[in-house]
Amino acid sequence: MKKVVMGEEFLPKRWYNIVPDLPEQLPPPLHPVTKEPVKPEDLKPIFPKALIDQEFSEERWIRIPEEVREVYTIWRPTPLIRAERLERALKTPARIYFKFEGVSPPGSHKPNTAVAQAYYNAKEGVERLTTETGAGQWGSALCFATKLFDLKCTVYMVKVSYYQKPYRRVLMETWGGEVIPSPSDRTEVGRKILEKDPDNPGSLGIAISEAIEDAVKHDDTNYSLGSVLNHVLLHQTVIGLEAKKQLELLDEKPDVIVGCVGGGSNFAGLCYPFVRDAMKDGIKIIAVEPTACPTLTKGEYRYDYGDTAGLTPLLKMFTLGHDFIPPPIHAGGLRYHGDAPTLCILVKHGIIEARAVSQIPTFEAGVLFARTEGIVPAPETNHAIRVVIDEALKAKEEGEEKVILFNFSGHGLLDLKAYDDYLSGKLQDT
Ligand SMILES: *Cc1c(COP(=O)(O)O)cnc(C)c1O
Repeated sequence: MKKVVMGEEFLPKRWYNIVPDLPEQLPPPLHPVTKEPVKPEDLKPIFPKALIDQEFSEERWIRIPEEVREVYTIWRPTPLIRAERLERALKTPARIYFKFEGVSPPGSHKPNTAVAQAYYNAKEGVERLTTETGAGQWGSALCFATKLFDLKCTVYMVKVSYYQKPYRRVLMETWGGEVIPSPSDRTEVGRKILEKDPDNPGSLGIAISEAIEDAVKHDDTNYSLGSVLNHVLLHQTVIGLEAKKQLELLDEKPDVIVGCVGGGSNFAGLCYPFVRDAMKDGIKIIAVEPTACPTLTKGEYRYDYGDTAGLTPLLKMFTLGHDFIPPPIHAGGLRYHGDAPTLCILVKHGIIEARAVSQIPTFEAGVLFARTEGIVPAPETNHAIRVVIDEALKAKEEGEEKVILFNFSGHGLLDLKAYDDYLSGKLQDT
C-alpha cells in the first residue's frame, strides 16, 4: 500500500465553513464595552472587509483566491503519511495516518491562514500588520506571509520568549519582520504595565492588547490573529479537505481523528471537514490539551475576553478566565485561556471529545515518534501523538483494526531546548 500520498490535485479550491452545520446557533461575539452583539463595522479599525465578511459568514463553502492557492503550492498539498514504523513499534492492528503540516516554510500549519490574511489585507490597501506571538510560531508564519504580499509586519513577542527563545525571532527578522519584546513602551497598555512592574515577563494576553492598540491607532495598519476566530479556522480547513481526498484514494475512512488544541485552529482544520460524517458514522474525534491549561476539560462555558486587558470582543467559549496565567510548559502554543467558539459548541454537544494530557507523557510519545518515523514533532504536536498512541494501544487490546488520523501540526526543530530538558530529566509535571 502507498505510504505517502501527495499531488497537486488534492489542493482545494474552496474552504469549508462549519457555521451552517453546527448543532446550534453560534452565540454572537459581544462588544467589550456595550456588551451588545458586535456589528461587522465595529471590527473595521483592525480587520479588512473580506475577513470581517468571512467572520460573520454562514455560507458553507468559500472560494480560495487564486493568489492564495498559488502561494499554498509552495508547500501544499501537504503529504498524508502512514506511520507504519510507529504501528510496528506499538504492535497495533490500527493503521495510523498523519497529515504533515511541518513541511511549510515556517514549520507549522499557521501559514495556511497567515497567507490568506496577508492577501486580503494587501488587496484592501493596508500597509502593515501587527500581531502577538508567544514562542514565535504565529509571528514567524505572519512575517513569512506578509513578505510575500509586500506588507510590513510588527510582532509583539512575549518578553521572556524574546530573550529565551531567540531562533524564531531571528526567523521573523530574516523574513523582514520587526519584533518587539512585550510589554513595550510603544503602547499605552505596555507603558502602564512597565510603570508598575519594569521587569514584567509579558504574556500572550498583554501582547495581544499591545498589537491591537497599535493597529487601532494607525490608519494604514491592521491586526492579525492566528487562532480562535471563525475566519482563521476556515482557512485551516485546507488540511482536512486534502486529507479526506487523500484517504479516499487509499480507500480508507478514519475511525478516530486526533489533534492538539491551543485555540483550536489546527485541530478544526483537520477535523471540521469530517464532522458531518462523524455525526452520521460515529467517527471519534478527540481534542487534546495540556493538563496545565485544561480549557475544554475544566473551563467554564461563558462569555470571556480574548486578551488580558479586555480590549477584544467577548466570545462564548470554554474559558479558564482571561486573567489565567498557565504554567510555563514547553508547548507554548497550547497555553491559551479560551478556545474557538465553534469548537466549544461541538464539545458541549459531545460531537467532539476533549482530553487533557500532562507534559512528560507527551514527550515520551514525541520521542518514540522521532525514533520510529524520524521526524521530531513540536511539543504541541506531542499532545496529539500521546493520544494517538493511547488509542492505538487500546485498538491492540480490543483486537480492532482502527484507522487513526491525526494532525502533525508542526516540527520541533526550533524546540530542541524542550527535548534537552526532557532527555536530561529536567522536565517536571505540575
Ligand atoms: C500554534 C500551534 C498550535 C496551537 O494552535 P491552534 O490554533 O490550537 O492550532 C499547535 N501546534 C503547533 C505546531 C503550533 O505552532
